[in-house]
Amino acid sequence: MSVPHSTRRLSLLTPSGRLSLGNYLGALRPMVAQQRQADCFYGISDLHALTVAHDPAALRAATAEQAAILLAVGLEDSTLFVQSRVPAHSQLSYLLECVATTGELGRMIQFKTKARDSRSVRTSLFTYPVLMAADILLYRPEQVPVGEDQRQHVELTRDLAQRFNQAYGPVFTVPEATTPPVGARVMDLTDPTTKMSKSRAAGSIGILDDPDTIRRAISRAVTDSDTGPDAVRADREAKPGVTNLLEILAACGGSAEGLTTYGALKRAVTDAVVAELDPVRKRYADLVADRTHVTDVYERGSARAREVTEPVLAAATAAIGL
Ligand code: AMP
Repeated sequence: MSVPHSTRRLSLLTPSGRLSLGNYLGALRPMVAQQRQADCFYGISDLHALTVAHDPAALRAATAEQAAILLAVGLEDSTLFVQSRVPAHSQLSYLLECVATTGELGRMIQFKTKARDSRSVRTSLFTYPVLMAADILLYRPEQVPVGEDQRQHVELTRDLAQRFNQAYGPVFTVPEATTPPVGARVMDLTDPTTKMSKSRAAGSIGILDDPDTIRRAISRAVTDSDTGPDAVRADREAKPGVTNLLEILAACGGSAEGLTTYGALKRAVTDAVVAELDPVRKRYADLVADRTHVTDVYERGSARAREVTEPVLAAATAAIGL
């Protein structure tokens, strides 16, 4: 019953905030590269954006923006869908809540961290790892590449799948958590010891930023007071700002050869980032000028996601006795 799909890849992006250069280099570009090797399902996990206080209009706008960005970066050959348009995700999540326990959900580090400062949080913040398990199990992937911060959630997914299979029959493929190849890790330009995030902090570059905005952000990037002839060199411990700029430069196809001053380095980084992001921004503008294509792609993608997930949900529903 549980046919695994070794070449299937699933990745979800939550529409909270605006995608950054970090998301682009660390997630989106590798997703584009994967399209040639696997049957890729990429979803916008709008349901996961509901676990904290949210504004409906802002969520709708962020979902629409991300939908067009995924196409603008070149994910045309993947199955693109919006999670809430594939009801099996929330339906299976409920069935899995009936095998999960409050004890194990209470042990999730992300929940403990996010709930630490509040007396009371949305119930969905507590249960979202179960929704994440449903997200994964519905597509029967053999492997789930995850970063360290999500490893515990994949362990939970495995536990729930095994417990369900033992109690009710072999419905789910138990996926293995694998470590993805180390990709670019882009740091904040003004605080290079923290990751560049989706928040519109001064040290962040948005995927859709215009060349001027990019130039200004990079000109404000922190470096150090080293003025020696070899000041432009990578040293993550002693020179985190300069190292980050060099890594961004390399990730965007630029070269640091012959650069001796921070001014020259910043100009080279600006040119490389603008050259990388400008085509994306232009394709994005075309796509949103007439959204018909975006709408068609997501309708087709969501339909395929419904088709693929329906038999898994049906098997789980029958097995559990409904
Ligand atoms: P998040 O923005 O944290 O929801 O992450 C979405 C995806 O983008 C994940 O695959 C992250 O690993 C990736 N990502 C987010 N921020 C960065 C960053 N600063 N550098 C590299 N990858 C990132």
